[in-house]
Amino acid sequence: MIVVMKRGATPDQIAHMIRRIEEEGLRPVPLYGTERTVIAVIGDERGEHRQSLASGPGVEEIIPILAPYKVASLEAKPERTVVQVGPLRVGNSHLGIIAGPCSVESEAQTLATARAVKAAGAHALRGGAFKPRTSPYSFQGLKEKGLEILALAREETGLPIVTEVLTPSDVPLVAKYADVLQIGARNMQNYRLLEAAGETGKPILLKRGPAATLDELLLAAEYILNTGNYQVMLCERGIRTFEDHTRYTLSLSAVPALHERTHLPVVVDPSHGTGHTSLVARMAAAAVAAGADGLIIEVHPDPEHALSDGFQSLTFQQFEELMALCRRVAEAVGKTLEPATTPETSLVAQVA
Ligand code: PEP
Ligand code: MN
Repeated sequence: MIVVMKRGATPDQIAHMIRRIEEEGLRPVPLYGTERTVIAVIGDERGEHRQSLASGPGVEEIIPILAPYKVASLEAKPERTVVQVGPLRVGNSHLGIIAGPCSVESEAQTLATARAVKAAGAHALRGGAFKPRTSPYSFQGLKEKGLEILALAREETGLPIVTEVLTPSDVPLVAKYADVLQIGARNMQNYRLLEAAGETGKPILLKRGPAATLDELLLAAEYILNTGNYQVMLCERGIRTFEDHTRYTLSLSAVPALHERTHLPVVVDPSHGTGHTSLVARMAAAAVAAGADGLIIEVHPDPEHALSDGFQSLTFQQFEELMALCRRVAEAVGKTLEPATTPETSLVAQVA
């Protein structure tokens, strides 16, 4: 259930209700909106709890949450969540663009890509240092060296870094360098990892497992939200179907369907979702038309020689074309695609 506080409820009244909920043996999760505060209540929803909380000071009403996920649900928080880190803003009317190589391969490759995607208007740099590869014989990533290279790219360009963490024991190391922790599709239901990543307080990009339903994705997000970290982006990256003309089937109806269920922003990954360079730009544009709050795109200086996912990576020129197309669609659907990073919005400037 959620305890909806009155518009003018005071901080004392909110603190009082948080204590009352704890006294009932339930867990309060306050969600502070600009309009009003609601407190999601996790635990047993017996009628007597509801009645005794309803008479609390500053309480407007108690509403049961029917969805299995509580904090992620739109019922708990009708205001859309905006995830922000430096120049990257994802959610509500903001369209955030994350771009970069599948894997960090070298300093030269990563820096060249960071410069190019920034010049084309990206707001964050992606790049895997720890790679989840289907085959143990494939390139596994440069690990800490890769993180150091990403940090260099951030220093030079001001772009925040989005990078994957594979296991709970790597979380402290990856969080030392990353601005956004990516939880990969294969790990969507690695619950200890979700908690460990959530506890860092860093924004999280949570990718949908290729066989996960939307409820399962939202319940996975709930593990992160339950750590008190609300900076969560969901990512549709394609699901497994019988279709074989694409690597996965990019389920774009997931975007409006998620928006009907949750306040969390939805990012679309047309690179993994299609697995073919030639399909990426048009599916990116379609994602924006479907209401996506962000895109994550693989870009490489020389896709033919990439150590991973070259077949779905864009050249710098192709990425520029994608941005031009998406800018037109964004305008048509009322989304703001912030111009390229300025010195004032750069992460380096904000941290300094
Ligand atoms: C990636 O982003 O390079 C990646 C491995 O993605 P996914 O987890 O969606 O397969
Ligand atoms: Mn990849």
